[in-house]
Amino acid sequence: MDYISTRGSAPTLDFRAATLAGLASDGGLYVPARWPRLSADEIRALAGPDYVETAVRVMAPFVAGSLSEDELRTLCRAAYGRFGHDAVTPLVQLDHRHWLLELFHGPTLAFKDVALQLLGQLFETFLAGGGTDITIVGATSGDTGSAAIEAVAGREHIRIFMLHPEGRVSDVQRRQMTTVLAPNVHNIAIDGSFDDAQAMVKRLFGDAEVRGALTLSAVNSINWARLMAQVVYYFYAAVRLGAPDREIAFSVPTGNFGDVFAGYVAAQMGLPVAKLVVATNVNDILHRALTSGDYSAGSVTPTATPSMDIQVSSNFERLLFDLSGRDGGAIAAMMSEFDTTRAMTIPADMRSGASGLFASARIDGDAMALALRWAQEHGGQIIDPHSAVGLAAARGLDIDPAVPVVTLATAHPAKFRDAVERATGVRPPLPPRLGNLFDREERYERLPGDYDAVKAHILAEAARG
Ligand SMILES: *Cc1c(COP(=O)(O)O)cnc(C)c1O
Repeated sequence: MDYISTRGSAPTLDFRAATLAGLASDGGLYVPARWPRLSADEIRALAGPDYVETAVRVMAPFVAGSLSEDELRTLCRAAYGRFGHDAVTPLVQLDHRHWLLELFHGPTLAFKDVALQLLGQLFETFLAGGGTDITIVGATSGDTGSAAIEAVAGREHIRIFMLHPEGRVSDVQRRQMTTVLAPNVHNIAIDGSFDDAQAMVKRLFGDAEVRGALTLSAVNSINWARLMAQVVYYFYAAVRLGAPDREIAFSVPTGNFGDVFAGYVAAQMGLPVAKLVVATNVNDILHRALTSGDYSAGSVTPTATPSMDIQVSSNFERLLFDLSGRDGGAIAAMMSEFDTTRAMTIPADMRSGASGLFASARIDGDAMALALRWAQEHGGQIIDPHSAVGLAAARGLDIDPAVPVVTLATAHPAKFRDAVERATGVRPPLPPRLGNLFDREERYERLPGDYDAVKAHILAEAARG
């Protein structure tokens, strides 16, 4: 499979190179040159196989030319063998039409494990014997950092430096990062905010001295391989509810538009998706963009769903690329306008191209808490606040009652137990496999919010091996 940039002027790459590159050199994002299709019979045949085999069949066309099916199978077994449920992403029924797709059975209790566990395997495979070691640098406000660290801990040819704002991530989130003691893992607590940490990471990527010493890489959701891994569970869930002979709707708690874009890819591949609901919290740039065309960034309002507290959704560019008829020049012009003014209008013809498949909803804190209690009282489930945003949007959806509606449950409730306890009175316990998290040794460096100190620390640690 060839990969092309959404901005039309970066070189075409194969899957291996697109995975290692992350961002395209013209500032765009890589997408497959065409969407592969599965026939109705091929989709029907997914009803029997387990998660790993489903993953191989769904992802094989995307990795063709870089990995054989057997190689892909080996990587999927290693990635999904670490999940705490044999179904990997089990479905749970809430009432006669609503279902939860539990994506949080990975090592760090958030759906990001589904993609990052595979990405860690892919990086190691593609770097083996190549003579290059990569250095992953990132900033996290919680979920991404721990999932990325778990994905690369102990791997050869990769080291990771993860910055977090000291005192501003939860104890569970911090310990999920700092108790990983593998020598290639470096946690740094910055005296400052998440934005300060993020700004330092951006500066490191642009720093000639750093780039001369290290091959830097990022693991955020602009990496195509992450989205590809997420396409799998849409198929896995839908065939269990009757696809391809029945349409299924999905509601997706959305931040960076990665997870819901994977649902769009599944639909392009032939899965009968009745609706994709983009569920946002009060940080609603995507809801505004899809309903009125107003894609303008404001400032972030902190909520009980921090993983959805975003200003801009980087993966939205991938959808715009398709809606423009894959016109890279047009997307480059739109994005450069957005970069200068922090605002753009999505033209009506592009919006109407999205309106058949997509719906959207803005869910405030009260509606989120109400959905949390509804799941508890009617479905017998304690869910997390992000999943509750998705469920609130799903329950507001106006479509044929014969269509099953699947809400993606993106985090385990124990990860956000203060907010869950406030809404339900129940304090969800950590699953047993994480039970001793609070007894484990922690290791991390505390540094002032000073770029030169952070840079010097990273260069010195990297030079030690
Ligand atoms: C990252 C995250 C999201 C948002 O997913 P996107 O792919 O960025 O839209 C939602 N919920 C949780 C718990 C997350 O960690």
